[in-house]
Amino acid sequence: MQTHLLGYPRIGSNRELKKACEQYWSGKTSLQELLETGKTIRNHNWKLQQEAGIDLIPSNDFSFYDQVLDMTLTVGAIPERYQDVISKESNTELDLYFAMARGYQQNDLDITAMEMTKWFDTNYHYIVPEFQKDQQFKLFSNKIINGFIEAKEAGINTKPVIIGLVTYLLLGKEKENGFDKLDLAQNLLPVYIEILKELENHGASYIQFDEPFLALDLNQKAKEVYQFIYGEIRKQFPNLKFIAATYFDGLKDNLSLAAALPVDVLHIDLVRCPEQLDEVLNTIPETLSLSLGIVDGRNIWKNDFGQSQAFIKQALNALGSERVFIAPSCSLLHSPIDLDLEKNEKTLSPEIKKWMAFAKQKVYEIVSLKKLASGNTDYPSLQQAAENKKAIDNRKVSELIHNQSVKDRAAVTTEEDAKRNSPFSVRKETQQEVLQLPLFPTTTIGSFPQTKEVRSWRAKFKKGELTAEQYDDLLKKETERTIRWQEEIGIDVLVHGEFERNDMVEYFGEQLSGFAFTQNGWVQSYGSRCVKPPVIYGDVHRPHPMTVYWSEYAQSLTKKWVKGMLTGPVTILQWSFVRDDQPRSLTCRQIALAIRDEVNDIEKAGIRIIQIDEPAIREGLPLRKAEWQDYLEWAVEAFRISASGVEDATQIHTHMCYSEFNDIIQNIAAMDADVITIECSRSQMELLNAFADFKYPNEIGPGVYDIHSPRVPSKEEMVELLKKAQAVIPAQQLWVNPDCGLKTRHWDETEKALIAMVEASRELAKSYTIEKV
Ligand code: GLN
Ligand code: ZN
Repeated sequence: MQTHLLGYPRIGSNRELKKACEQYWSGKTSLQELLETGKTIRNHNWKLQQEAGIDLIPSNDFSFYDQVLDMTLTVGAIPERYQDVISKESNTELDLYFAMARGYQQNDLDITAMEMTKWFDTNYHYIVPEFQKDQQFKLFSNKIINGFIEAKEAGINTKPVIIGLVTYLLLGKEKENGFDKLDLAQNLLPVYIEILKELENHGASYIQFDEPFLALDLNQKAKEVYQFIYGEIRKQFPNLKFIAATYFDGLKDNLSLAAALPVDVLHIDLVRCPEQLDEVLNTIPETLSLSLGIVDGRNIWKNDFGQSQAFIKQALNALGSERVFIAPSCSLLHSPIDLDLEKNEKTLSPEIKKWMAFAKQKVYEIVSLKKLASGNTDYPSLQQAAENKKAIDNRKVSELIHNQSVKDRAAVTTEEDAKRNSPFSVRKETQQEVLQLPLFPTTTIGSFPQTKEVRSWRAKFKKGELTAEQYDDLLKKETERTIRWQEEIGIDVLVHGEFERNDMVEYFGEQLSGFAFTQNGWVQSYGSRCVKPPVIYGDVHRPHPMTVYWSEYAQSLTKKWVKGMLTGPVTILQWSFVRDDQPRSLTCRQIALAIRDEVNDIEKAGIRIIQIDEPAIREGLPLRKAEWQDYLEWAVEAFRISASGVEDATQIHTHMCYSEFNDIIQNIAAMDADVITIECSRSQMELLNAFADFKYPNEIGPGVYDIHSPRVPSKEEMVELLKKAQAVIPAQQLWVNPDCGLKTRHWDETEKALIAMVEASRELAKSYTIEKV
């Protein structure tokens, strides 16, 4: 039996890589310093695994930005537009690399970055490879080989981790018509062969190919390419040992394909899909070993040793110890690094901490599991097993987690609770009577600029340098200023600005019970950007109102309507580490009920328009289409539970960003929000087509202003966009708003853009009335 990891986090225990990259980008440090930081992190990670006793330690899991971009550079798939960056002599390989990741604005050049998108269903984003019809590949960067040599010099014969050829192609995007990216496999193969030759020459014995697509829906052609490519690779390298790593879902209908690939080890994700083990054991040929992904690489809970031992035993019985590997379910890239660094007992109590394991702790879990399973126990592994059992048992009954009344309430929630009193057509009239909004009403998505000052108040308040009263006063002034300014420029539905919020999930998590927070639980999101998701450990409920104070205050300042502003249950779930002892759908329902209480309380406080943001609803879609319906049902229901406790006259808004809605538009409609605002301007309203084709029944605010850029759009541009929208959406249904919250913008841009936006709405209204006459 052997232990291995699919990958270890590379940001450094204190986000050293983030800091080093950002300093290098800003010109404050030299390339040498950045390279040093990378080297230190790699060596630290290798040593850590070596000391823990991991048998096969990965290399090439390190990256300065993204592992997919690394592969793009390795195989020389460099888009044409970077030619000038390459030809400039002073530019290094890393400069080119960062130019591809972040764009390049220097030396009179202005080259856009490559596109970025989500890595399967994680919150990690990768840089999308760009392919041309006649795409050429060549070995361009030696990163994989250099990494292997570097580790060898440190005394470790690593297992290089390489994105599998088929997965690499499937991750990319055809940049012109008339070909299928899979057609490039033939062309790309020689580069892979070259890399493998080099690695073999330098003494590599195991190679890991990441092929997560084997756990996704595949068409016939992809299956054939898999067979062909691995057949060719095997022919050339009879002696290398290949691991095909699958994760994030089960092999399911691809099992026979995967089992027949001429590789040596197949890695399966038993956290996401434990039920596949029986079938896999029955299917794989004698030539194939099995790597059991048993420690959750995507979450922060201690492994349940009892359960894992059962899996290992089953595999050992079926295959014998020679053919069994144990590992985390996927790369630990998606785990925070070190639980030992968590010292704040107020936000993470010692009892909860005992239930958790970060990347470093997971490494030790893997090692202990092997020792326990092979009967090779020593004191540390026995001690860990005892602690593990205690923690797992304690978690099952802890009063911190289990709250009977919350469970009871979730259990008796019925379809009725997920339904507004009347259908939209009736609500619309009642709402119009009360709200008296003009045609093409203007609004914003919620947040206004979080200036340095605003953030400094929060920091000072947290450090105790400002009293609660002083902090409150400052926020009130900022809120009032924002309300006055919106009145002045003539926005129809105002917002309070969200100055009191650090983050749209954390702010609610901090006030709900069942949530804990880490100090240092960072996970890479993209490039140097990291996120620190809250931990949902227990039954969720709302001990006290969360936003009523600010909404009520803002409404008291003005005769215009102020929109209440909440984060929806699916988004809170999606952007947190969630408990693994009950279905996600149940946790989501508990959050929904807590948000419902808040919605009802804001209504009671006199707020008539309430927005429940669900930017993450689309990204929660399961990887396999067969599972979409189930997810969509409970996710939409959760939203409706949160929104349906109000009267007909209360208008519910929702907001979503970066979404392609075409395939789920019916479900979006089923959310039955009175108004939905969506990101649209970057696609020039293309996204609206889905709503138009479907005849979306409720009201829509397609974003007319891209808030992700400091650029100020002109009134004319926005009128143009609105006309495009009006061509497909009836005027009575159309709202005017930016794409998303304005939190990251500066006030001066915001002011100019919103003034122009209001004018655009008025102009549209004018031409509409004239046309009608
Ligand atoms: N109301 C939030 C804001 O304006 C919405 C943010 C989002 O969609 N990501 O900041
Ligand atoms: Zn948004």
